[in-house]
Amino acid sequence: QGTTKLPPQPSPLRSSKFCQSNMRILITGGAGFIGSHLVDRLMENEKNEVIVADNYFTGSKENLRKWIGHPRFELIRHDVTEPLLVEVDQIYHLACPASPIFYKYNPVKTIKTNVIGTLNMLGLAKRVGARILLTSTSEVYGDPLIHPQPETYWGNVNPIGVRSCYDEGKRVAETLMFDYHRQHGIEIRIARIFNTYGPRMNIDDGRVVSNFIAQAIRGEALTVQKPGTQTRSFCYVSDMVDGLIRLMGGENTGPINIGNPGEFTMTELAETVKELINPEVEIKMVENTPDDPRQRKPDITKAKELLGWEPKVKLREGLPLMEQDFRNRLGVPKK
Ligand code: NAD
Ligand code: UDP
Ligand code: UDP
Repeated sequence: QGTTKLPPQPSPLRSSKFCQSNMRILITGGAGFIGSHLVDRLMENEKNEVIVADNYFTGSKENLRKWIGHPRFELIRHDVTEPLLVEVDQIYHLACPASPIFYKYNPVKTIKTNVIGTLNMLGLAKRVGARILLTSTSEVYGDPLIHPQPETYWGNVNPIGVRSCYDEGKRVAETLMFDYHRQHGIEIRIARIFNTYGPRMNIDDGRVVSNFIAQAIRGEALTVQKPGTQTRSFCYVSDMVDGLIRLMGGENTGPINIGNPGEFTMTELAETVKELINPEVEIKMVENTPDDPRQRKPDITKAKELLGWEPKVKLREGLPLMEQDFRNRLGVPKK
């Protein structure tokens, strides 16, 4: 072990002009979809000071526009694969592209972000004595052989496939979290996030909910990838943010599944979007991509018991909220 490392230091906030209960929070990937909603929620608390570190690969400053210039907010262009020196009390570590088309675009970079990025944030947490939360994923269960998936399931993951950079990257990130916890006593929290949707998703990021909503608004056919019987469970972003904040504030390391157990086939999702947004559009079957998991639904018993959390927003309530945001950004008002 190196001997030149600084010992854990209390955050300078503790002795600053701010009062004792103030919290300085780092959010990596805070310019992205979930991260920017998390920023909004944390900024509502006047005792929080929020620092976002993001390289803008899939996120944008636009998502944080209302906070730029705010005295309790700071935005740093930073790639988490490089070391980061800041003094904080909590770290929400989200930085990582989440959509298959973006994480497959440069798979080696995706692995570096998950492995080196998480290592750096753990080194930071160790130096400053911060608590760190990792946003892991339901993809750690791969193409699951157990349904619904409890946290005790070890998964069925292809280590050499086109999704592996993300799935295995997150699995190593979880391993690193637990090794820093056991070896260095770092306070860790791991959320296994299931498919999440809502305003500010990238319009063309290829994910199913954003694709279907954009297609319905543009009057294009909804593209259901074959066979259409594969399932996913979709959580509205406000519920997700609530779950993450509860996990961070609670006493359990996790991993804890955070997701909505309402399960839909992709054909059912297409029919629901068609009914709610544009009954005129067609639904067409298209080719799928390799290694697509056939089913996915969280067992959220642990989240209910340990965090007192369960999702509130149903798919039929969340879709119109997202539609509104997509219409604004696409410039297509509802008739
Ligand atoms: P997103 O792509 O909108 O946000 C990710 C953010 O991380 C972006 O702002 C991006 O620019 C930034 N980023 C990527 N690589 C980086 C790097 N090397 N250094 C610094 N910043 C970097 O995705 P999201 O949906 O908001 O996902 C956030 C987190 O939640 C991710 O860790 C993702 O794996 C996890 N997650 C999301 C979902 C989902 O359905 N959205 C599901 C499971 C897990
Ligand atoms: N690190 C960082 N910010 C810090 C402290 C560490 O980015 O404030 C990085 C550091 O560059 C290293 C990683 O975190 O690559 C792991 O740090 P740790 O101290 O655990 O390991 P070591 O430096 O001894 O390999
Ligand atoms: N999907 C689809 N049409 C699309 C995009 C995706 O039917 O236009 C399907 C895809 O085959 C998968 C599911 O929707 O079964 C979820 O895909 P997404 O990329 O949104 O998320 P993930 O596969 O990471 O859960």
